[in-house]
Order: sequence, then C-alpha cells, then structure tokens
Amino acid sequence: MAASVIDGKAFAEGLRARVGKAGAAFEAQTGRKAGLAVVLVGEDPASQVYVRSKGKATVAAGLESFEHRLPVHTSQADLLALVARLNGDEAVDGILVQLPLPPQIDEKAVIDAIDPAKDVDGFHVVNAGRLAIGEDALVPCTPLGCLMLLKDRLGDLSGLEAVVIGRSNIVGKPMAQLLLRESCTVTVAHSRTRDLPAVVRRADIVVAAVGRPEMVTGDWLKPGATVIDVGINRVPAADEGRTRLVGDVDFASAAGVAGAITPVPGGVGPMTIAVLLRNTLVAAHARAGLPPPEDL
Ligand code: NAP
Repeated sequence: MAASVIDGKAFAEGLRARVGKAGAAFEAQTGRKAGLAVVLVGEDPASQVYVRSKGKATVAAGLESFEHRLPVHTSQADLLALVARLNGDEAVDGILVQLPLPPQIDEKAVIDAIDPAKDVDGFHVVNAGRLAIGEDALVPCTPLGCLMLLKDRLGDLSGLEAVVIGRSNIVGKPMAQLLLRESCTVTVAHSRTRDLPAVVRRADIVVAAVGRPEMVTGDWLKPGATVIDVGINRVPAADEGRTRLVGDVDFASAAGVAGAITPVPGGVGPMTIAVLLRNTLVAAHARAGLPPPEDL
C-alpha cells in the first residue's frame, strides 16, 4: 500500500496564517508589531537566500522585520556589540544570527550572547537546558516543525517507538527531547550505531536528520511507520549539469512501506520558517507579560 504524503507546505501555510492572526491581535493589545531581527555576516549565497525568505515571510505575516547585513570581515567584537544592541531594543522580540559564521567568529560565543528570551532559534544553552528538563523553552524551529507534522498526522504519540537518526544540537537532540516529552520511547541513532536498519525497523516514527542522500530505504522500515525526512541534499539530476533536491530517505522505496511520509522538497523544509515566525510571536507574548498565543 502506498504511503500517504504529509504536505508540509500546506501545514506551514496554515501555521503562517494563524501567526498572522495572532500577530494582529498582539498589535491590537500592545500597540506595536512583534519584531524579528535577522543578522547575516558575509555573502554566502545559501544564507542570503534564507535571510531574504525569512524577511519576506516575516513581513507577509504582518510582523516587523529588521535585517542587519554585515561584511564578511566583521570582527567578533562588532557582532557581539550588535547582538547587545538588539538584546536591549524593545522593538525586537526575536534575534536570529544566520549560521554558519565566518571563521574569525566563535559561533558559540555569539549564540551565548543572545538574550534567551529572544533566542527564537532555540540554540542558547538556557533554552536547550529548559527543553531537556521539561520546562517551557524556545525550541529549535526544524524539530518543532517535525513534531507539529507528527501530531497533526498521528494525534497522541504516547507509547510509540521513535527512532531519530542524527544527534546534532539543531535537529537530532532537540527532536529526541520533544518526542520524549510526548512520551515516545526514543532511540537516537548516529554514525556509530550498529546495524542501523535493524534499529530503524523497530520504529513507529522515524525522523531522518543525517545529511546523506536517500540513505534510508524502504526495506529498513516497519510497515505503516510514519517517516519524517529532514535531509536536504543536492545531487546531480538526470539532465547533465543540473541538480535536484533529495532527502535522507529514498522516497520511492520508502513510500511503498511507510504509512505516511514527508516529501523533499515540500515536507519539513517549509515548516522551519513558519515555526520561526511562531517562535517570534511566542517570545513577543512572553516579553509583554501576556499568556502564550492560542492555536500556535
Ligand atoms: P549534522 O550536524 O551534520 O548531523 C548529522 C548527524 O547524522 C550526526 O549526528 C551524524 O552522526 C549522523 N550521521 C552521519 N552519517 C551517518 C550514518 N551513516 N549513519 C547514521 N548516522 C549518521 O546535520 P544536521 O544539521 O542535523 O542536518 C541534518 C540534515 O538535515 C541535513 O541534510 C541538513 O541539510 C538538513 N536540515 C534541514 C533543515 C530544514 O529546514 N528542513 C534544517 C536543518 C537541517 P555523528 O554525530 O556520529 O557524527
């Protein structure tokens, strides 16, 4: 039986519309728009595309967008001074410093300098710690987006076997924490995991966040499993000189075994920016002393 395809693009559009409504209500209550500041250092083409689309999506949702573009040779001190200024700026609810940063800058020092209340990427150690001990936190956007898709599809996740492949701080680890918070039985697999196909075959939920094109194949899956493919990998296309995007899961073989699966593109990808806007609004409410927005 063919898996049903989880439409992340449609879910993300719905979330963005709900953010827009909640943003308008926030503005009516406080007299100002929630604001997101995005900082880009250098001219990395992929980062420029991300920053442009984040800015556009912020404005489209009716939030205030502040863009700071700094030259590639910016010193760590100058970047930290900008972060300090944004920390103190009342109009800024969320601060996102686009990674990766040029080699003269210590990424950890910059993330540590962001006010945890404005850390909409959820990378600050305070937010990572709060998530780990089950307190309210700003949670990294991609794994939170994956969780939203899972809950939308499956409802209650309690008691399900979940296997997360990948243990990065931005995807794998927070994903595992979120699934644990939902009372899944969670296994985190990584490059040293023995017999990965056998580990994955136990799972009702598979989240692949590896960065290896089409690594997870249908014969690794338990029939009916729900598969969330976080991978974004550019590979050569059939026409010479062109490329195409694929995930960490071999969609063709996996779709014949899974119960539901996210495509690449159009699955997890569109969720990341939508959750970033959601996090900005959540941060804005907390900073204004308001209860968290409903329905986000
Ligand atoms: P990362 O920091 O490179 O982490 C990759 C993880 O995969 C590591 O934990 C690594 O294990 C594990 N791994 C590598 N090879 C493996 C193998 N053969 N078997 C099992 N595990 C293996 O990557 P990331 O930042 O988490 O991103 C993962 C993927 O998600 C990438 O394709 C990235 O482009 C994509 N991504 C997408 C979004 C989105 O918006 N959709 C956002 C973020 C990332 P070790 O720890 O043992 O090295």
